[in-house]
Amino acid sequence: MTSVFEAEDFDNHEVVHFVNDKKTGLKAIIALHSTHLGPAGGGIRMQPYENSQAALKDVLRLSKGMSYKNALAGIELGGGKSVIIGNPKTDKSPELFHAFGQAIADLGGKYIAAEDVGTTLKDMEYISQKTKYVFGRDPKDGFGGDPSPMTAYGVFLSLKESVKHKLGATDLKGIKVAVQGAGAVGKNLIKQLVEAGAKVCFTDVDVDRIAAVQNEFGAEFVALDDIISADVDVFAPCALGAVLNDTSIPQLKAKVVCGAANNQLAKDVHGVKLVEHDILYAPDYVANAAGIINVFYEIDGQYDVKKVMAHIEKIPHTLSEIFKIADETGQPTALVADEMARNKIGR
Ligand code: NAD
Repeated sequence: MTSVFEAEDFDNHEVVHFVNDKKTGLKAIIALHSTHLGPAGGGIRMQPYENSQAALKDVLRLSKGMSYKNALAGIELGGGKSVIIGNPKTDKSPELFHAFGQAIADLGGKYIAAEDVGTTLKDMEYISQKTKYVFGRDPKDGFGGDPSPMTAYGVFLSLKESVKHKLGATDLKGIKVAVQGAGAVGKNLIKQLVEAGAKVCFTDVDVDRIAAVQNEFGAEFVALDDIISADVDVFAPCALGAVLNDTSIPQLKAKVVCGAANNQLAKDVHGVKLVEHDILYAPDYVANAAGIINVFYEIDGQYDVKKVMAHIEKIPHTLSEIFKIADETGQPTALVADEMARNKIGR
């Protein structure tokens, strides 16, 4: 097994904390990439990783991504992430989350946690019984709750900005959008797009979700394999990572890619390929930052939805700046965003 320091995705992370609790079966890794701008903020992912190497790879990449995301979102948080190795359907217990909460507490506020793929509001409540450094908690207790609707709002605004930049359209009336994944973010995004007059098609693997979106919003369902090549103006990935790759990019008819999914580019070179195909890419961690912005406003205990919305409404300005530099330099937007983020975190 490769050690942490030699791991391909190790990027001078400040702390990599391994957690092993025999009593509850908890095996987890917390990675703090940078605390330059503040305590490292990022979600807790629970997944049945194939092995600890896969979990390490994921947490190193995701925590670095959070540093970049938080820096460009203009919030005083560094970047961190944690992964719990286990099946979220079968391996959860209150005791396991208590043990994980204790591990967060042991970091003394250097890591600010929230929910992510595989964890829920309920899990955050168990964790909060051991540490105050966990957010995305129940609105009835004065917190922000599930950040997904806010994430969708940020993606919606980003999509509008991208369409304005690439297609010169000042609103979304008649703009054709293909949404991949109608989950917590995708469904909310579809709702806003339909309300704005866009023509939306979508796909998902979950039959209940497909039916719900068809019934509620009248959006057109497209088969899984047809979503990439759909004849649309915008492709909005809201499910999987690495969807922009050697196979998919030549099939895209959309001139804009803007969605919520993390790590949409399979490799950095795919940012270049999108430029070659004359496709404008809204860097994922800029477009999907509204969820962590929502979490940030919970930290001081004065959660205020108006302040959150006002902050989210700055995302299009950041995107516009990235697009302008990319146009001037011919660089891929993803590279421009990475450079801006690295400058902010002093790397
Ligand atoms: P989710 O699990 O609620 O939704 C994902 C949806 O994608 C599900 O409906 C699932 O059935 C569907 N799906 C899975 N495989 C698919 C496939 N092959 N093709 C089409 N659909 C498929 O997740 P979410 O919270 O909506 O997040 C979506 C993406 O956005 C993820 O990549 C997540 O990391 C990212 N993201 C989410 C947030 C947030 O606030 N929830 C914030 C930032 C980034």
